[in-house]
Amino acid sequence: MSTSLFDLSGKTALVTGSSRGLGRAIADGFAKAGARLVINGTDQARTQAAAAEFRAAGHQAEASAFDVTDEAAVMVAFERLDAAGIAVDILVNNAGIQHRKPLVEFTSAEWGKVIATNLTSAFIIGREAAKRMIPRGRGKIINIGSLASELARPTVGPYTAAKGGIRNLTRAMAVEWAQHGIQANAIGPGYMLTDMNQALVQNPDFNNWLMSRIPSKRWGKPDELVGAAIFLASDASTYVNGQTIYVDGGMLAAM
Ligand code: NDP
Repeated sequence: MSTSLFDLSGKTALVTGSSRGLGRAIADGFAKAGARLVINGTDQARTQAAAAEFRAAGHQAEASAFDVTDEAAVMVAFERLDAAGIAVDILVNNAGIQHRKPLVEFTSAEWGKVIATNLTSAFIIGREAAKRMIPRGRGKIINIGSLASELARPTVGPYTAAKGGIRNLTRAMAVEWAQHGIQANAIGPGYMLTDMNQALVQNPDFNNWLMSRIPSKRWGKPDELVGAAIFLASDASTYVNGQTIYVDGGMLAAM
């Protein structure tokens, strides 16, 4: 099979939350496959530094720092891209947060922040991207779900609701936008080594539980998401729509 199916040359990818963590690893994989990057995070300096590091490595990368929960800021970011003549061919809705505490202790504001960051942002940014992809007759949207798109664990109630929502939002996007040449799919990462999981990595009880539960017997590395992301961003997946691909070391396959 030709590797050109997976070539992203000439494509521009906006990856939200790509200043660090999984988003950065996915952006790096896209850049190595030839894509131009739009790097995002809330922290202006970190976002610009990440874009500068990609440019220093010989890739094309712009910084676009905005808060994915701030609809007005999202609109401005897309208007700036429009004005610069940058069309987003690939959108990865990756920015997300975690907040751990028992469900009975969550305030509505805390619940709302997790839902806004992990779910509503994917709708708003997906909508703005799709409005521009539809007239072009093509586009790729990849939403980042989680094992929590399928299963629950105590203390992460709003995150579980949001990530379950991501799985079905992905289907909603697919059924409306597939006719316009857009593929909307999701990736559900398993337990990956990033800042978000620092507290879990350092907790021996959690680690013992995880190692007893996960068939691969190890945490995932962020760059292990790159293969699935390139597949869903490239011509290799032009008839794949509405799916969630789990990259989880076999976790969801095990009882
Ligand atoms: P990190 O905490 O390591 O990184 C989060 C990234 O998102 C940063 O770039 C951060 O930038 C950005 N971000 C956070 N909030 C916002 C916001 N409101 N607007 C814009 N950017 C924001 O997280 P991970 O890399 O671990 O997680 C990335 C995604 O993967 C999330 O959706 C998460 O739920 C999902 N996931 C992660 C798993 C894991 O094991 N790590 C497993 C399953 C899913 P800044 O700090 O500058 O705002």
